[in-house]
Amino acid sequence: MSELKRGKKKRMTKQRKIILDVLKNTKIHPTADWVYDQVREVLPNISLGTVYRNLKVLKEMGEIMELDFGSTYSRFDGNPENHYHFVCNDCERVYDVEMPTNETLVQKANNVTDHDVEEHRLEFYGMCRECRERSTAEG
Ligand SMILES: [Zn+2]
Ligand SMILES: [Zn+2]
Repeated sequence: MSELKRGKKKRMTKQRKIILDVLKNTKIHPTADWVYDQVREVLPNISLGTVYRNLKVLKEMGEIMELDFGSTYSRFDGNPENHYHFVCNDCERVYDVEMPTNETLVQKANNVTDHDVEEHRLEFYGMCRECRERSTAEG
């Protein structure tokens, strides 16, 4: 296999598959620490550094997305396709927003700039349902 000779293409190792499965099976957009806790139940000897490295590789492979909202920790998303997110200003939880992405925004941005615009991201902010219900319950 020429792919292996070049040694550039990353393989889906057993560790990476387990990390990917953890991310695909959650909707909470977890931090690396959370992923580490889950993966340790299957691979007790894995280190946090290894989990970090594999998350970076999975991102390079296009299998996952890294979400950087300017908060302390990056969040990871098992869905690598562009989609929109809602971030709660109160609890900082990240939710998927089930609406079609507007790819014409990319075209519009291309038209008004000299840059090669390739993609866009969009985040909504506010108070999530759980926080709203808690605050109304507390009065
Ligand atoms: Zn909230
Ligand atoms: Zn998401």
